This record gives sequence, structure tokens and C-alpha cells, in this order.
Amino acid sequence: MLGTGTLKPGPRRYGAGILLEIGGLKLLLDCGPSIVQKLFSAGIDATELDAVFLSHFHVDHTSDLPDLISSLAADKLGYPRRPERPLTLIGPPGLVQFLEAVLDRNPYHSYVGEWNRALRLVEPVEIGDKKELRIGDAVLRFAEVDHPNGYAVRVNIGDLSVTYSGDTAPTTSLVELASGTDLLIHECTFPSEALMGKHSSEKGLAEVASRAAPKQLVVTHLSPAWTGREHEIVAALRPSFKGRVIIAHDLLEIRVRPRLATEATPPPSSRAFHQLR
Ligand SMILES: [Zn+2]
Ligand SMILES: [Zn+2]
Repeated sequence: MLGTGTLKPGPRRYGAGILLEIGGLKLLLDCGPSIVQKLFSAGIDATELDAVFLSHFHVDHTSDLPDLISSLAADKLGYPRRPERPLTLIGPPGLVQFLEAVLDRNPYHSYVGEWNRALRLVEPVEIGDKKELRIGDAVLRFAEVDHPNGYAVRVNIGDLSVTYSGDTAPTTSLVELASGTDLLIHECTFPSEALMGKHSSEKGLAEVASRAAPKQLVVTHLSPAWTGREHEIVAALRPSFKGRVIIAHDLLEIRVRPRLATEATPPPSSRAFHQLR
């Protein structure tokens, strides 16, 4: 969990970004502020990524993208490099237009667009009607959610599945996508008394979690308003959701077991994850 906050920095959380390492693949889910630096803190260079998924275009999910794309043109020591293949960049319909606006039509960023064209740094893939994509052995399925241009993703590989909500108000499309998933990573931006926009509070999250019934739930995208009162999220979830709940913070590492192993042995209380730094 690289960035588990919003656009407003808090003491333990800032920006949105998750590194998913699954079946030998390294997938970055969202690329908000501080994510390139946090990838480095997690021991990963951007050139090692296999694909990036953008859940939507809001700045707390995309602001590090020009930095990420630029850094693909340099190796770990900062020397120029020519990638063997472009990095797959998956996003909602409008992704190509978004990239043009951020890179090409901004005269101060247009050199990044020129590098991208010259070196084929990223290859954009817009989520189409098919709403399914294969990368290596992983199958990615997408669902439109209740947030501007918002999509959720479910990554399946073998017996293992991880689902990420992106930003969304509670919605049936997410419940259907996440149904029975091993790990659901879901936003809970604001406490219910301060809920704004198309987001989820602890009450909405409880409804989604009980309906989707993931084996484990990771709560992320927490505004600083949650600082010191995260236990209220767990309390709101407990009457209806019996699975394991993890309240995320930046640079938290979570290990996920395949479904059969999870069913055979209940997950231990704290051994399965630890803080990276
Ligand atoms: Zn958003
Ligand atoms: Zn957001």
C-alpha cells in the first residue's frame, strides 16, 4: 500500500497508489502524489513495472504520472535508457486524450510527450466494452463505478484474486465485481458525518463489504479526518462483516494467500503483514 490517503496529506497517508505483486507480475494501481518516491522506498524501480492501472483521472490518482513516464527513460542510476517494450498503461475511456492534455498540450511538459513518442515509454490501453484484459497469467476485469470516469479492477491469477475499488460511492457494480474475492481494497474517504461527493463512508463500506463478502478487506483512501479514529471503521463493519479487516497506511505490505490455503487455515491475526519502513 504505497499511498493510502487523498490529495490532502495526513501524518500516515498521502496520495493513492498500490503495488500489486502477483504471479511474477508487478502492477501499479493508481499513480498519485508521492507514488514514484514510495515505489523507490518499497525497493521497486519504475522500470520494473509490467503495467499501470489508473482508476480515474483525479489528481490524487494521477499526479505522479508525468514523473513515472519520464523516469522510464532512465535506468536505476539515472542514465538514459531505451526500453525494450512500452509499459502498458490501462485507464478509463478518454485515457489517450488525458495523456495528450497532460503531456503534449502542456508546453512545459511536452518534452515528456516527445520522449514517450520517440522511446515508446508507455502504451495506453483504454478500457473498452470488453472490460477484460490479460497480462501474462493475470486476467484483469473492470467495472464502472459511481465516481467521475471511475473504474474498479479485479485481478485474477490462478486461485487468487484481488479487487480494487478506486474511488466510488457504494455501488452494486463493485459488489458484483468483488463478489467472493480473496482481498478487497476499498476506499473509505470520509466519516459519514463529513461525506462529500461520490465517495464511501464507513456505513457505505459496511454495506458493500457484507454484500461482496471478500475474505479480507483492506480499507484505504482515508482523508486526514480519519486520523486517530480509524477504529470507528472497524466498529461500523463488525456487525455485518466477519472477515479480516486491515486499515491501511502508507508503505504497509500485505501478503495474500491463495484461496485454498486461506480456506484451510484461518489467517493469523498479525503475521501476514508488516510495515516495510
Ligand atoms: Zn476521485
Ligand atoms: Zn481519490
